[in-house]
Amino acid sequence: MSRTLSAPITVAFDYTRSTGPVVGRFLEGLRDAQVVGGRTSEGKVVVPPPEYDPVTHQQTTEFVDVADTGVVTSWTWVPEPVKGQPLDRPFAFALVTLDGADTPLLHALDVAGPDDVQTGMRVRVRWREERVGDITDIACFEPDDGETRPAVLVRETVDPVTGIIVPIELDYLYAASPEESLFYSSVAEGKLVGQRCPTCQKVYIPPRSACPADGTPTAEEVPLSDSGTITTFCIVNVPFLGQRITPPYVSAYVLLDGADIALLHLILDVPADEVRMGMRVKAVWKPREEWGTTIENISHFAPTGEPDADYETYKQHL
Ligand SMILES: [Zn+2]
Repeated sequence: MSRTLSAPITVAFDYTRSTGPVVGRFLEGLRDAQVVGGRTSEGKVVVPPPEYDPVTHQQTTEFVDVADTGVVTSWTWVPEPVKGQPLDRPFAFALVTLDGADTPLLHALDVAGPDDVQTGMRVRVRWREERVGDITDIACFEPDDGETRPAVLVRETVDPVTGIIVPIELDYLYAASPEESLFYSSVAEGKLVGQRCPTCQKVYIPPRSACPADGTPTAEEVPLSDSGTITTFCIVNVPFLGQRITPPYVSAYVLLDGADIALLHLILDVPADEVRMGMRVKAVWKPREEWGTTIENISHFAPTGEPDADYETYKQHL
């Protein structure tokens, strides 16, 4: 087996969270450049306000404005920030107890180096100019030299903050197995190659390192046709973030001729409500100059016009 392939993969979605009255109140405060805490049943001012009292478990209802200046109670140095952190240069994560609060808030502290941070140092909020009702309205903390700052512009906003969108993203490097690498290298040449299990004779595409049914390592390469039969499918009616085709469209399992396991792909060039189990389809390849080492070299599958396959021919592959 020749070289193995790898590719950077990003999995991402936007998580939408309703804030509720307590977190919403905190975020509305940030939008107005005001840090808001909540008073607990024991009289402590906690920032951000807890949604429920830690002792009585009642909803927090008493809110307290605290200062945007405070004291560092603990910190750690971040020499190499990663994507998504508050600052793109080295900084400290600090626990800051704001004046008027009894508990600290975690945020970034913008200083040149670890020698510029000390527990007990005075810091203040650096407000973002465009504030939207999010924790990032606090750009970071900065050392408080005691000098008066220019007034922060507070807009006359009335809309309550009821929800926030939290982008979740995971970047990783996917390393393909030698068998998958064979598959993707073949796709780069316009060919579909599976592997046959020497024990049960089933042909898998994409090939796995071992037969999922009996565990036997697979080695024999089997060139497969780019025509096949739709076994099962779903009509996608719902729009979602990142969608590249306007719904409705069909996502289907296609059992390539000669394979024992179906491949998931798009079915186009046919009205969604005409797609059916047993329909014969063929790969529509993108122009060769657009090919890479992914299954997206196949734009989609389209009906061949042949008579439908007999159910008996694919019923074992659903
Ligand atoms: Zn097998």
